[in-house]
Amino acid sequence: MFEPVLLKRASLPRSETIEVYMANGGYQALPKALEMKPAELIDLVKRSKLRGRGGAGFPTGLKWGFMTPENVTKYLCVNTDEGEPGTFKDRELVEKDPHQIIEGAIIAAYAVGAQRAFVYIRGEFFLGVKRWIKAIADAYARGFLGKNILGTSYSLDMSVHRGAGAYICGEETAMIESLEGKRGEPRLKPPYPAQIGYLRQPTLVHNVETLANVPHIVNRGAEWYASIGTEQSTGPKVFCVSGHVFRRGVYELPMGTPLHEIIYTHAGGVPGGKKVKAVIPGGASTPLLTGDELDVTMDFESLAAVGSALGTGAIIVMDEDTCIVDVARRTARFFAHESCGRCTPCRVGTQQAVRLLERIEAGEGDSRLIDQLVDLVDGMAGKTFCPMGDALVAALRGTFKFMEEFHAHVALKRCPLGLPYQEGAPIREKAPGASTHAAA
Ligand code: SF4
Repeated sequence: MFEPVLLKRASLPRSETIEVYMANGGYQALPKALEMKPAELIDLVKRSKLRGRGGAGFPTGLKWGFMTPENVTKYLCVNTDEGEPGTFKDRELVEKDPHQIIEGAIIAAYAVGAQRAFVYIRGEFFLGVKRWIKAIADAYARGFLGKNILGTSYSLDMSVHRGAGAYICGEETAMIESLEGKRGEPRLKPPYPAQIGYLRQPTLVHNVETLANVPHIVNRGAEWYASIGTEQSTGPKVFCVSGHVFRRGVYELPMGTPLHEIIYTHAGGVPGGKKVKAVIPGGASTPLLTGDELDVTMDFESLAAVGSALGTGAIIVMDEDTCIVDVARRTARFFAHESCGRCTPCRVGTQQAVRLLERIEAGEGDSRLIDQLVDLVDGMAGKTFCPMGDALVAALRGTFKFMEEFHAHVALKRCPLGLPYQEGAPIREKAPGASTHAAA
């Protein structure tokens, strides 16, 4: 029986307070970490094989090692800009146990020599903002933040910065642009933020869940951490399950847990005894799996092997009555709405994809519409400035596993499942550089 690590305090009353955190093992890793040399901490995290939980899965210790060793001003950014459809795990961690993330952030900042930390949070997370501000103030009051932390020579300041609700600001370089007060548009990489980031200084950017793991690695050791999960995907993972299941919610399980087990054992299965038709395994940008692929285990390698990705671990379950063309159209609408407008293949391509999918779903035209859609997706692939354009490409290619459903729509002039077509509100036209993604 797996014992929760990251969510173990989440069900306690007033779990968000510093008193409950400290009464349940909190802030015990920080003094240990401050007694270690930064290089020892980096080595510890490398040995734990912790990988980023924001979607890319980059090895955390390696990222820390990329931060320049020179004595220059460095920054840490805590990425709380969770905005991918189906993803609500970071919100849970922030609202229920913010000090766990703060402790991890202080340790990470110390390991790379950062003197200033920012929390960049999605503007709509009103409760999360309140929790962050209160938790940071309490950490200052107890001497965990500010000058000479716990009597050492190490000092760190931390503050909260609210975004304006743009999905693209979850991309690390767009987030840094927004933090600098500019429109949230991605930068060309390389250079990566670890080399040139906030105010052109080395900047470590980490997802909330990634940092929440760090105190546990310091407290219980790299070997303990690496013993959870699989050989290459170690540690616990917070999965958020939504869609056609009995118990939608957030589940902490070891990396490598079978998808079938998450859906049927933890989330209670599909209402009405219906079959699973498809599953998005890691948020809207990850290619969907069919109901025949539920034996896959939820880790970076296994999902890549079946042509998808772990992403954020946001599992969206769709039963046999789901129209996949509708799923494709809704996904394309999200990406068209969130395109920052900077590059043409994404700005125009996402909107073209929506228009074609609207016509296919409404049963207009013929199979040439489907050919145009496939050509459009092929034309966008690998040609956008940042990964968002390719995210839609991957998501739509996933829906093409159900190509016969696309053809049935144009052949029958309606949804073959008899579902009514509900046209969404028109997508706002975007001119190049016309986005409004500046931070609040
Ligand atoms: Fe902006 Fe989309 Fe281009 Fe990324 S791919 S820079 S989100 S327009």
